[in-house]
Amino acid sequence: MSKINTNSAVVLAQGREHPILRHHHWIFSGGIQSAPMYEPGEILPVHTSRGELIGHAYFNPYSDIAGRMVSFGDADPMSTLREQVSNAVNLRQSLFDLTQTNSYRLINGEGDGLPGLVVDRYADALVLQSSTTGMDMLKAQIVEWLLTELPEIKCVYERSDISSRTKEKLSPVRDYLYGQAVQEVEVLENGLKFIVDIVEGHKTGYYLDQREMRNLVGQLSNGKRVLNCFSYTGGFSMYAARGGALGTNSVDISAPALEVAKRNFELNELTGDNQFTSADVFKFLREEQLGYDIIILDPPAFAKKRSDVEAAIRGYRDINRIALTKIPAGSILITCSCSYHVDQEMFERVVQQAANEARRSVKIIHKHRMAMDHVLSVHHKEADYLKSLVLWVD
Ligand code: SAH
Repeated sequence: MSKINTNSAVVLAQGREHPILRHHHWIFSGGIQSAPMYEPGEILPVHTSRGELIGHAYFNPYSDIAGRMVSFGDADPMSTLREQVSNAVNLRQSLFDLTQTNSYRLINGEGDGLPGLVVDRYADALVLQSSTTGMDMLKAQIVEWLLTELPEIKCVYERSDISSRTKEKLSPVRDYLYGQAVQEVEVLENGLKFIVDIVEGHKTGYYLDQREMRNLVGQLSNGKRVLNCFSYTGGFSMYAARGGALGTNSVDISAPALEVAKRNFELNELTGDNQFTSADVFKFLREEQLGYDIIILDPPAFAKKRSDVEAAIRGYRDINRIALTKIPAGSILITCSCSYHVDQEMFERVVQQAANEARRSVKIIHKHRMAMDHVLSVHHKEADYLKSLVLWVD
C-alpha cells in the first residue's frame, strides 16, 4: 500500500515549478531543492520554493524522474486517483460498443492522470503494467477500484516487464492478481475476432494502438492486393480480407505470431488468397517483386533510446525507399513509426528522402496517431509515440 506523508514536503527549485503548475506529471531529480527522508514510492506534498502547495506526487530517489504527480492543488491524492480510475472507465465506455470492440487501452498512464500505469482490457481480462515503485505500491488499490467499476472482469494479470523498470531499480513482475489464470483470450475488434496471448504475446498481448489504422485499411482494400509487413498476428491483413481484398500476404519474422495469424483467419472464416510469410522484412522487400496495391510497413520501434535515432532513421529510410521504388504506380503505402525518439517531423523528412531516392511522386493522403483509447494529456506530450502516413504513389 502507498504511504502518504503529509508532514514534510518536497520543495522544487526556483523556476522548476512551471511545468508542474501546468499539470505536467514529472518532477526531475535536478528540479528538486530539498526533500525529506522518505521511502521509495511514498506520496509526498510538493511545494514551490515559496512554500506554496502544488499538489502531491509519489517519489523514488533512484529514478531521474524522481517524482510523478498524482494530484494537483489541494486535492486529496487518493480521492483524485479514485476519480481518475472512474474517468478512465467512463471515457472508454463512451468510445466502444462492447459487442463490436472489447479490447482497448483502459488506462494510459499520465494521459489518464495515473502516472506509471497501463491497463489493457482484453474481453473479460485486464492486463496491468506498472513502470514505477510508486505505482507498484498503488496497484492493489487500483485493481480493487477497477473491479468495482467493471464487475464482469474475470482475470487481472500483471505484466510489468518493461525495460524502464530498471531505471527505478525494479525487477520484472508477471503474476495473476485476481481471478482465473487465463493465457489466451478471444477478443473482438470492430467485429473481428482475435486471439490474444496475454502472457507470451508482444506488449500486453496485442497492438491496440493501431486499431483505427487497421479499420482504415479495411476500408481501402476492396479489390486490392495487400502486403502487410511486420504483420504480427495478422491484424491489418484480416481487415483487408474482410474489406474485400483480392489477396493478402502477412510477413513477419516471428513464426509463433504467424501461427496465431493463421488461427485468426480461420476463426473469422476469412477464405481466399491469404498468405503467411515467415521472413525478415528487410530481405523480403529487397528480394521480392512487390506487385501490390497496398503495402503496409508497421515495424517495431527502431529507436528504443535517443542514441538509436541515427540507426533507426537509416532503417526507416531503407524500408520506405525499397517499398517506394518497387510499388506499382497508383498504389498506397502505409508507413508507420512507433519510435518516440523519431518525431513526426523527423519521420516525414525520412519519407521525403526515401521518395526522392526512389524518384517517385508521393502524396500524403492521411496522417494518424494512436487510437483514441491511447489518450494523451495536453500537458504531457511525452506519451505521443506513434505516427502513420498514408501515401499515394503515382
Ligand atoms: N502491425 C501489427 C503490429 C506490428 S509489431 C498489428 O497491427 O498488430 C512489429 C512486428 O514486427 C512484430 O510482430 C515483430 O515480430 C516483427 N518484426 C520485428 N523485426 C522484424 C523483421 N526484421 N522482419 C520481419 N518482422 C519483424
